[in-house]
Amino acid sequence: MSTYVFGHTTPDSDSIVGAHSLSYLKNQLGEDCIPTRQGEINPETAFILERFGFEKPMLKTNYAGENVYLIDFMESSQSPEDIAEATILGIVDHHKLGDLKTAGPLEMWVRPVGCSNTIVKQMFDYFGVEIPKDLAGMMMCAILSDTVIFKSPTCTKEDTKAVKELAEIAGIEDPKALGMEMFIVKSDVLNDTKEALVLRDFKDFNMGSEKIGVGQLEVVDLSVFDNMKEELFAAMQKIKDEAGRHTVLLLLTDIMQEGSQLLVLSNDNAKIETAFNVTLENNQIWLPKVMSRKKQIIPFLEGQF
Ligand code: MG
Ligand code: MG
Ligand code: MG
Repeated sequence: MSTYVFGHTTPDSDSIVGAHSLSYLKNQLGEDCIPTRQGEINPETAFILERFGFEKPMLKTNYAGENVYLIDFMESSQSPEDIAEATILGIVDHHKLGDLKTAGPLEMWVRPVGCSNTIVKQMFDYFGVEIPKDLAGMMMCAILSDTVIFKSPTCTKEDTKAVKELAEIAGIEDPKALGMEMFIVKSDVLNDTKEALVLRDFKDFNMGSEKIGVGQLEVVDLSVFDNMKEELFAAMQKIKDEAGRHTVLLLLTDIMQEGSQLLVLSNDNAKIETAFNVTLENNQIWLPKVMSRKKQIIPFLEGQF
């Protein structure tokens, strides 16, 4: 029986590359793994797959009765609906401890580093398995994406070390330049509907009894959003109403200015203002130095719910 390896809903590059990299490692170790994904890939991930000659993992949303490895998440809100009927053999992740439960013992590789693929790199080293050139290139890109080319406060020495070693294997001389190329692709926000933009990198969290959705768009120049705020708010409203969410936030992150414009739609704006110690103006606020949803947004929201 094959084991499926996949990342969170609305997968990002770490989730998609991680499905490939963890499957490859496990297969080298004698298991029978198949990389899958829970949803459509984003333009940045498409760029990475194309650059290194990989296919999209198979789309699969039902896992009842299957064995699975999870990479880059451990929250029920980011899982397939039938995750409780799957057997989780292991988790490789760099997020806060989630709410998933298992019936049996499992393998856990959870570390506070900038990217799941940094942990996968360490697993390759631990097991003494060689990383193929193109896979190394993809893993390097996933780390550059999650750490925003080392600028995110989530980035650690282990991430920069992993990028250096993976770049050597992949024969890439200037990882930062490739990272910039990737973020320019990621900055293309003109070819998608506003709803697709809000959902491009969107995560739900269960906080108290409420459902909170937080989207993030990372671009090289925030001015691309100048004329689309109203439409983004309209899309956020639709997404908020659809699933009875208490709050929908959208972080518009400028990776050059190193900060985020926060867009807020909430049943209780005061909670958001208290969480970040700010006063919203037209449901928005500029948060200097804020680049990481997991480290600079979610913990403060958790405190309010
Ligand atoms: Mg992710
Ligand atoms: Mg990640
Ligand atoms: Mg991210």
